[in-house]
Amino acid sequence: MQGVVLHHTAGANSYSKEESAGIVRSYQTMHIVTNGWCDLGYNFLVDKYGQVFEGRAGSLDGHVRGAHAGVREVNDNTTGVAMMGNFETSNIRDAEWDALRDATTRLIGWRLDDYGLRPLQNLTLNGQTEFRVSGHRNWLATACPGQYGQEWLDAADGLRADIDSALS
Ligand SMILES: [Zn+2]
Repeated sequence: MQGVVLHHTAGANSYSKEESAGIVRSYQTMHIVTNGWCDLGYNFLVDKYGQVFEGRAGSLDGHVRGAHAGVREVNDNTTGVAMMGNFETSNIRDAEWDALRDATTRLIGWRLDDYGLRPLQNLTLNGQTEFRVSGHRNWLATACPGQYGQEWLDAADGLRADIDSALS
């Protein structure tokens, strides 16, 4: 475990707290039945109510290789965290996403700290050097985690900086 890759699911922005678990199950079905993977690709998913779901089995107990980055070495050595929503179209700074931002910040901070890692450190995988907390688009040509998601990740008052403060 060397870092965390941030994703969005690019799914619906409007869903109830009760619907979230079913949405997670639908991703699991898609990844297993449609994609032919052994389990859900993301290690964790976070919803707009601050609920955190374990994606790939065993991820809460330790590092489990996921299928989220589209780059083998990145999948092998990082934790994939997916924010449930579309942050290409919805501004993650809006108040409706307060609980998701808070839960995502705490989840990633916990994961890094368990491995003695800090978010502003670098990691090099697949011949590429990025921050330990990076966006999917840093590793692959994809919009993920959305324009607003990536801006929040990189901002001076955003996700990476907030985790660094929390762990200092
Ligand atoms: Zn992604």
